[in-house]
Amino acid sequence: MLEENLKTIHKRIEDACKKANRDVNDVTLICVSKTKPLSDIKEIYDLGERDFGENKVQELTKKMPEMPEDTKWHMIGHLQRNKVKYLINHVKLIHSVDSYRLAEEINIQSKKKGIVTPILIEVNIGNEDSKYGVKYEETKTLISEISTLDGVTVQGLMTVAPYVEKNEENRPLFRKMYDLFIDIKNENIDNVNMNVLSMGMTNDFEIAIEEGATMVRVGTGIFGARDYSK
Ligand SMILES: *Cc1c(COP(=O)(O)O)cnc(C)c1O
Repeated sequence: MLEENLKTIHKRIEDACKKANRDVNDVTLICVSKTKPLSDIKEIYDLGERDFGENKVQELTKKMPEMPEDTKWHMIGHLQRNKVKYLINHVKLIHSVDSYRLAEEINIQSKKKGIVTPILIEVNIGNEDSKYGVKYEETKTLISEISTLDGVTVQGLMTVAPYVEKNEENRPLFRKMYDLFIDIKNENIDNVNMNVLSMGMTNDFEIAIEEGATMVRVGTGIFGARDYSK
């Protein structure tokens, strides 16, 4: 079943790229494996996927040693400063940086290990009270502050769009994210690269791709519905 799901997602990504006249290689699929057992993750790995997303540090660090070394882990959930140290040097990318204080802690822990950690800035593009992320209006200021830290490198932006009935409803928000992304890219800030635009989930990733996403984060579409009752 997982194989069929994965094939369907890749076909949908291809179709969206075709529609938008984009190269399919410019869109990376992050398989969001939160709450899912290792057996499922290994099955998807064996089908050729390497990028996996988790939203909890504890779950991520538990799964990490059980997977092959070339697995690329993405931290996509809200991150507390006291847990940063467990991630540094283990994750490919932290998608969810939304404050200077968090970036500062990532900076400190990275320097201890002599590395530079790639991060994305999470933007609360729908301006929802229930969501993490920096306010749209404050994004540029936050990025210029973080750019002074040499143990982190900003690689782009991430957003979790609002839940909507019709995926088209999120198009204007994805477009706003893309415009912000290009705007910041054009400022050529030292130590800031705008290479990654992480947006789009199971319900709306095609729209996100049409509007310029370079990473889509798909959970349910690959692994099936999540069970939080356990
Ligand atoms: C759970 C989650 C996803 C995946 O959501 P689906 O709707 O299951 O595809 C993507 N991004 C973040 C930040 C998540 O927490």
